[in-house]
Amino acid sequence: MLRKWGEERYAPIRRQVDDDWKEHKLIKPLFKEVLVDLGVAGAMFPLEVGGLNVTRTGTFSAVLCEELGRIDLGFAAACFCSVWPMMPIMMEPHRNMELCEEFGERYCGDELCMGCNAMTEPPSGSDVENLGLLHGKTIQTTARLDGDNWIINGHKIWPTNSGDTADLFGVLCTTSKGSTDENDIAYIYVPADTPGVSTGGPYRKAGCSADMNTDIWFEDVKVPKRYRAHGPGEDVKYLREMLTYTNIMVPAACVGMMKATYEIIKKWSSERVVAGKILKEHSINAAVLAEIAINIESTSAWVYMMARELDYPEEYGMRPWEDRMYYRTCGLNLFGTDAVVHATGRAMELMGSYGYCCEFDLEKIWRDAKMTNLWEGGRHLDLIECARYWYDLETI
Ligand SMILES: Cc1cc2nc3c(=O)[nH]c(=O)nc-3n(C[C@H](O)[C@H](O)[C@H](O)COP(=O)(O)OP(=O)(O)OC[C@H]3O[C@@H](n4cnc5c(N)ncnc54)[C@H](O)[C@@H]3O)c2cc1C
Repeated sequence: MLRKWGEERYAPIRRQVDDDWKEHKLIKPLFKEVLVDLGVAGAMFPLEVGGLNVTRTGTFSAVLCEELGRIDLGFAAACFCSVWPMMPIMMEPHRNMELCEEFGERYCGDELCMGCNAMTEPPSGSDVENLGLLHGKTIQTTARLDGDNWIINGHKIWPTNSGDTADLFGVLCTTSKGSTDENDIAYIYVPADTPGVSTGGPYRKAGCSADMNTDIWFEDVKVPKRYRAHGPGEDVKYLREMLTYTNIMVPAACVGMMKATYEIIKKWSSERVVAGKILKEHSINAAVLAEIAINIESTSAWVYMMARELDYPEEYGMRPWEDRMYYRTCGLNLFGTDAVVHATGRAMELMGSYGYCCEFDLEKIWRDAKMTNLWEGGRHLDLIECARYWYDLETI
């Protein structure tokens, strides 16, 4: 369904999306088509609030990201990140029905409702995600309980769907600045129209234009106490689960991007002639083409294996929020994101100057590919977390 939609609706305008980075005039109606009209936004919500109650959420999300990634990474990121902040409250076995009713009905309704997971802060995005070492110590955004309300103050930067895209923010806060007690980590929902919330203008990036990124400020923002996802100790648990999901969904999008690359390079290398022979019939080029195929197959196998582990914890023995699940998927994230950078770079080399030209879609995929190993703490945090798990690192 998504592939058909992408080919008919998105592919023809894919390159115009780059120019729409500021206004999102072209993009916003397309969000509605996928999130509302195709039912993606409400898919994982329970039936009681109008959702589809999709329970194999790992595989569902991976297919979503692969197929949308095949069309455009920025669009895939925006759609997935719209539902991402809802994961702590909408998924079993930790559904928060009160908040599902309050927010789910908006996600499952006829109007577009978009979410934004606001974690990154100006001093460092990696540090707020580096729970294994820092345990929330550097989170600057504070949440203070005042009677029946939270008062939130802080500054977030970069989140997907910031600016005027999101209707609802999931905000990573601390209830005690500088604390390393994970009980102080709070995940609190803030409707975008709450007084005290303001956003800046969109940043211009090398690609991923369908993903709008801006500053967000929270100044004495007051929301009801019940808007905290769960509570002390629980919020951080499901935050880990959210990070585990993206460690699988980003490489899933990479699989989609590599498959799109494969289609382009297969056609090109079958038609172009160098030194009197079809490009792919030179052994040196055949080896490069093989590497691209191997990158796709291996990333895909690892993505769907981990998605299956998420979906069947009773069979695999790991709950999605467990440390070891998170650390193992850091390896996958690193592997898949390196694979797409490698595959798009090699494909471009095979296409020569044509690959670098906007007319052939590879150039866009190549630009976007680099983004995959910058967000979520970047390559180095992935490497450290991988080593931390497999070698019991103690100091880093
Ligand atoms: C298109 C896009 C979408 C995004 N979407 C979101 C979103 O939805 N929500 C959100 O909250 N944020 C989002 N971000 C922000 C992104 O997650 C952060 O930029 C990212 O986590 C890196 O943080 P930073 O840029 O502050 O780099 P820094 O934290 O300054 O990291 C710099 C370098 O240090 C490395 N590093 C990290 N930790 C260590 C360590 N312990 N030791 C040694 N080196 C280390 C990093 O890998 C990196 O190479 C997005 C950014 C972009 C560009």
